[in-house]
Amino acid sequence: ERFISEEADSEDLSLEQHLRPHTFEQYIGQEQVKNNLKIFIEAAKMRQETLDHVLLYGPPGLGKTTLAQIIANEMGGSLKTTSGPAIERPGDLAAVLTSVEPGDVLFIDEIHRLPRSIEEVLYPAMEDFCLDIVIGKGPSARSIRLDLPPFTLVGATTRAGALSAPLRDRFGVLSRLEYYKTDELKEIVLRTAQVLDTEIEETAAREIALRSRGTPRIANRLLKRVRDFAQVKGDGTVTFELSTEALDLMQVDRLGLDHIDHKFLKTIIEKFNGGPVGLDTIAATIGEEAGTIEDVYEPYLLQIGFIQRTPRGRVVTYAVYDHFQMEVPEK
Ligand code: ADP
Repeated sequence: ERFISEEADSEDLSLEQHLRPHTFEQYIGQEQVKNNLKIFIEAAKMRQETLDHVLLYGPPGLGKTTLAQIIANEMGGSLKTTSGPAIERPGDLAAVLTSVEPGDVLFIDEIHRLPRSIEEVLYPAMEDFCLDIVIGKGPSARSIRLDLPPFTLVGATTRAGALSAPLRDRFGVLSRLEYYKTDELKEIVLRTAQVLDTEIEETAAREIALRSRGTPRIANRLLKRVRDFAQVKGDGTVTFELSTEALDLMQVDRLGLDHIDHKFLKTIIEKFNGGPVGLDTIAATIGEEAGTIEDVYEPYLLQIGFIQRTPRGRVVTYAVYDHFQMEVPEK
């Protein structure tokens, strides 16, 4: 188990329902995305129309589902949620679409994983609010057209590049969520502590923020673990000392890197003289799948400038030697 996994486990999910901000005011950071959406929402309301379809993309845990909920609240509709992998047949999508009420927001998480045959059912729904369904089989099969109420589709994906061009083109608003700054994460930690009715020192909130890889989901999870620790080892108040002690025990360092990141980076340094080394070679050396390394470990390491992807393979930067207090080798 990684404490710093960006994916939600079942414990996260039950907590997250409780923690989700309901308004733009409570939603910290992502100023540009928020400002754009606010304007589009206001304009749509003035015209008494539904908001254009919105595509949100960025790494997991940055607040895509939360934004979809806020959009639904602002538009005065309710949120219907599903995901790409949950829709296996055109009928599954038809069932979801026919349950939508006027002004609702339909949220499709991991929309890049919708099968292509189902995407095609989605096109007329997005463009003309209608659904073509085929009834029966063989020579007696016929197609009927159902009208749908006007709705807004909010699609979320971790990989905008994996979306087909025809689907991407049908979104009027494309917003990319960025990793959060430490100050913003600190605000999120303080807010979560308040919701959980937990006393916390500002310095402790900052320490948790620093180690959360720019990701609110991770910040909230770390806070929860540190809070348990403070309950058992202290009087329940999350102090700076208790938080650093707990985070060190979890092996999450001051940049949010854990033992798996360390192994990955140290392998490149110690076995491949800092790189360049091909992805498949590192994968085989540390016994991980190349795809996992690329999708799960690397995005944050690239973001903080710890590795570079070059045509000849991965290279660690000077910052890594600095972080590990190691000498940069002669090349
Ligand atoms: P995603 O859909 O991108 O995986 P979520 O919307 O599920 O992410 O967010 C994960 C958790 O982080 C939720 O509990 C949510 O409350 C919290 N969160 C995300 N973004 C923010 C934000 N900007 N401000 C406050 N909390 C946030």
